Amino acid sequence: MKAEPSREWDVAIVGGGPAGLAAAAELRRLGVGSVLVIDREKEAGGIPRHCGESPFGMREFRRVLRGPAYARRLAEAAVAAGATIHAGVTVTALRPGPRLEVASSEGLGQVSAGRVLLATGVRERSRAARMIGGAKPGGVISTGTLQGLVHLQGLRPFHRPAVLGTELVSFSALLTCRQIGIRPAAMIGPEPRAVARWPAALLPRTMGVPLLLETHLEEVLGESWVTGVVVRDRAGVRRIPADGLIVTGQFQPEASLLRSSHLKLDASSGGPVIDQFGRCSDPAFFAAGNLLRPVETAGWSWNEGRFAAYAISRSLGGQLPSSAGSLVFARPVEPLKYALPQVIAAHEHDATRGHRAFQLRVTRPIRGRLALHVNGAEVWSRHLTALPERRLLVPLSVVPPGAVGEAAFVLTEAS
Ligand SMILES: Cc1cc2nc3c(=O)[nH]c(=O)nc-3n(C[C@H](O)[C@H](O)[C@H](O)COP(=O)(O)OP(=O)(O)OC[C@H]3O[C@@H](n4cnc5c(N)ncnc54)[C@H](O)[C@@H]3O)c2cc1C
Repeated sequence: MKAEPSREWDVAIVGGGPAGLAAAAELRRLGVGSVLVIDREKEAGGIPRHCGESPFGMREFRRVLRGPAYARRLAEAAVAAGATIHAGVTVTALRPGPRLEVASSEGLGQVSAGRVLLATGVRERSRAARMIGGAKPGGVISTGTLQGLVHLQGLRPFHRPAVLGTELVSFSALLTCRQIGIRPAAMIGPEPRAVARWPAALLPRTMGVPLLLETHLEEVLGESWVTGVVVRDRAGVRRIPADGLIVTGQFQPEASLLRSSHLKLDASSGGPVIDQFGRCSDPAFFAAGNLLRPVETAGWSWNEGRFAAYAISRSLGGQLPSSAGSLVFARPVEPLKYALPQVIAAHEHDATRGHRAFQLRVTRPIRGRLALHVNGAEVWSRHLTALPERRLLVPLSVVPPGAVGEAAFVLTEAS
């Protein structure tokens, strides 16, 4: 990419996944003059580029597509709407202005824009971050890497890996294995039941893969390459021979750029602090998609991209209310995992386009009462039964009109 320090784009979008590409097409449709999408991969499209199994596109295109076809269609729609995509370019820093520092094979550069949308998605938690003991051989990879190797490079990285995790994406890893004729040695998770919804848990049985619940991965074995894993369950400790380990799920927002920036980060969600318009603590920056929280579907992220486009076009036209006089949410306390948006800016909310609901998650199975407190007084409550990693929505309309100050969601468990 040519460095274009003096070029003012109306909007620059960091990340060309479903959220960023949806925003790009929508911004152009709303009449925003110049829209640039920057993506570090060699093509835009985001995670669906290497999701060969799952159905995508019902919400967006009213038809069922495989990930790569869906990703291509999103990119084509953005370009057809008049957006520019610069792929193979990494944004290395976010600066006030707004200004982006970028790096590509052509060197370093800067991009300045009227507004910036951050849409960098999520990644799975690495083996290192999970503190799994044992050796550090090759053959330990995430689902994303597995799918990239299989679907983008046509490789077959192993024959009998173990799969760590029981989230939806873990089952997606199983499907990828099945597609290339691999039967994993075991699927391992510490929870008493699979984290993903019920039908998913039937997949290991149909594939002849033992689903080991209430089982902890203690150690990875092997010198240069994985030769097995050591697991611990109620019966004790044992070794499972395997020639690879797929470390799945435990998603985290891809927030490295945020951490080194001037923008406020929410330690609970792992993403930026936003208001109901998707606007960050610096009002020239917006955020959408899975960067906001771990983790939602492509369709949900795509919709958030469109909401963000609408808010950004209003912001460029000076039509968004300022965030002065806002309601600021305290960090949720366990077993609440996160709640967003974390700020309600001046009491205006367009119920048709924007975040219509608070998004919450819990860390473990819960039965109890969820309440909203504003300046210490309870203003709303409801009974709640919830499982981890399932979407929980509370309409923004539960916030009393004109509320300003401090707010918190409080979860009291039934005794
Ligand atoms: C392994 C895996 C499998 C998944 N499988 C499914 C599935 O089957 N179905 C489903 O609905 N959801 C799935 N998801 C969830 C997925 O996050 C969403 O489907 C969707 O991709 C979210 O869209 P997004 O635009 O928020 O982010 P992404 O699709 O993640 O796109 C973010 C983009 O930002 C780019 N980027 C990041 N940082 C930079 C930077 N500094 N500079 C430039 N570009 C950058 C990345 O290259 C990427 O293209 C999966 C997620 C993972 C990690």
